[in-house]
Amino acid sequence: MPHFRRTSTARLDPRGPLVFDTRNLPRRPGSARTETRTVPAPAGLRTGMAGVPEGSDLRLDVTLESVSDGVLVTAKAAAPVTGECARCLEPVTQTIEVSFRELFSYEQGAGDEDEDGYALDGDLLDLEPVLRDALVLALPLAPLCRQDCPGLCAECGALLAQVGPDHGHDRANDPRWAGLRQQMTQAGPDGSPAPETREESGRGRP
Ligand SMILES: [Zn+2]
Ligand SMILES: [Zn+2]
Repeated sequence: MPHFRRTSTARLDPRGPLVFDTRNLPRRPGSARTETRTVPAPAGLRTGMAGVPEGSDLRLDVTLESVSDGVLVTAKAAAPVTGECARCLEPVTQTIEVSFRELFSYEQGAGDEDEDGYALDGDLLDLEPVLRDALVLALPLAPLCRQDCPGLCAECGALLAQVGPDHGHDRANDPRWAGLRQQMTQAGPDGSPAPETREESGRGRP
């Protein structure tokens, strides 16, 4: 029973937003063509704290270039990213830009599928997996609403950016600590605690 390998070929849809047609790119090394597209972001572009919203505008600048064994794709992409600030958890919106270059071979290796490479499907190439890898790698691991985001107050959880720099929980003014503080200040010559300490340090003697 022959086993038919299903490669990437559920046959690409030439109208797919990330499918590029190389038919009008002469298979002569050196020929090149540049294309600019804005496409809806595919789903699943997300890591822990940030992601590209599905359907948002991805801007692509793509150069397709014939080389001896395939089509070399050089691309730049810009995508909006939304997430949560890693310090204060407020919403963050920013744009990431990535550049990448990938060879799409004319033929898949005669025998085994080349796991590392991409191949043309007829005249078509699907940029989605390459673009996806590049974007996910570029997503910020710890997005910040601003570089100097002061985060949250460790004691009460207040947004330090809102409550201002004077916000604090000064222990000196906390009644629970007042008694202890008084004892510590009084531990001077007249404060009864630890007379032995004074005897040990010979410097106090006349
Ligand atoms: Zn923040
Ligand atoms: Zn606080």
